[in-house]
Amino acid sequence: MNFSDSEIVASVMTSQGFDITEKQEEADIIFINTCSIREHAENRVINRLRELQHLRKNKPGLKLGVLGCMAERMKASLLEDEELGMRIDMVAGPDAYRQLPGLLDDIEGGQQAINVMLLADETYADISPVRYAAGGVSAFVSIMRGCENYCAYCVVPYTRGKERSREPGSIIDELRQLAEAGYREVTLLGQNVNSYKWRDNGSGNLVGFSDLISMAAEVDPGIRIRFATSHPRDISEELLHKMAEYPNICRAIHLPVQSGSNAILKKMNRKYTRESYLKKIEAIKRILPGCAISTDIIAGFCSETEMDHKQTISLMEEAGFDFSFMFKYSERPGTAAAKKFRDDVPEHEKTRRLNEIIQKQQEISLASNKKDIGKTFEVLVEGSSRRSKDNSMGRTSQNKVVVFPSVNFSTGEYVKVRIDSCTSATLKGKVV
Ligand code: SAH
Ligand code: SF4
Repeated sequence: MNFSDSEIVASVMTSQGFDITEKQEEADIIFINTCSIREHAENRVINRLRELQHLRKNKPGLKLGVLGCMAERMKASLLEDEELGMRIDMVAGPDAYRQLPGLLDDIEGGQQAINVMLLADETYADISPVRYAAGGVSAFVSIMRGCENYCAYCVVPYTRGKERSREPGSIIDELRQLAEAGYREVTLLGQNVNSYKWRDNGSGNLVGFSDLISMAAEVDPGIRIRFATSHPRDISEELLHKMAEYPNICRAIHLPVQSGSNAILKKMNRKYTRESYLKKIEAIKRILPGCAISTDIIAGFCSETEMDHKQTISLMEEAGFDFSFMFKYSERPGTAAAKKFRDDVPEHEKTRRLNEIIQKQQEISLASNKKDIGKTFEVLVEGSSRRSKDNSMGRTSQNKVVVFPSVNFSTGEYVKVRIDSCTSATLKGKVV
């Protein structure tokens, strides 16, 4: 989401005559786009800002701007030198990016400037993002902003504001532009894409996510469509059937479960149970055979017992996730969990549980990858493999990484690869 937002910021700035530089020494202003999801993310931002301070020695006029969720969460306190132990010139929240050129005017004389207003209708629909992505194969397209689910642990509703959907025509236009520019894969982004909705003023028709994704898939059958994230409460069988109709909608669903214990899920305000989650998994496997399922898991949420943790491990086995993003619970100021519950699982216990979860996921991923040996997949070539220039890498529709000896093909091409070996993270094979 932040990657996509930075492309919007680049577009706003370049349309006002500013240039982007890859060399930080050349910059007159540096924006850091920030994440508040865990304390660790914020600490990394602070370290990054500290590293940038040395540039001011050679260039005293250099300005630093903090954008995004941390700007929204910490607001004017970021402008106080004592807060971070350094000077920040500008603070702009996720809905203030159109105002950046104006804010730059405000700071020119040495003052500080801030805009952290959240807007109920800002979707940057008309802004064509400047594409940063290397290779020009895969792009992100934001289809909605904000979130109103208020999961107890999560800071997003406070930093990104009300949920709002982007007008579908502008999304489809952006996809057409990407197709013309040679892109082969687009990921539709939102915190909860299954609650996408747009009511057409003229006809009164309602466009839901299932409608939007079929419109997206029809732009160009040579473009793969992915999407993230689905909320387990909102993902519908209608969507799964729609996916089944289009081979270019990727067979991969990211369905964050967070915990396998009903007591913890209730406390997290996730609004589904272990049983209803597993029913959704069963529906995915029934309607979309061969579809990969990935998830997010939080270890050590408030009051989580060993029994709760074991239920997470057993749910991982039952669901058979192809991969997971796994985190230790990090208390975020202002959230319901921070206000109502004690962060009472000791750090060493969170670490132990997280490690068990990671180990379990590696076992399951390896088993899932082993099942792919002998099968042939259509792989979109993304470039050279990180380890060796003689190998190429790409992804299957299931979003699994495949490494294979380079022959005569280029980035952005689809090739058929037969899998002959694997690790828990990668499939290996040869082009057939
Ligand atoms: N909108 C998406 C996820 C957004 S945040 C969804 O609802 O699934 C991405 C992931 O970060 C979450 O799924 C969760 O697993 C993790 N996360 C969010 N807040 C967290 C916190 N306070 N501590 C640890 N992990 C957190
Ligand atoms: Fe956060 Fe929950 Fe919204 Fe996801 S759905 S962004 S976890 S509040």
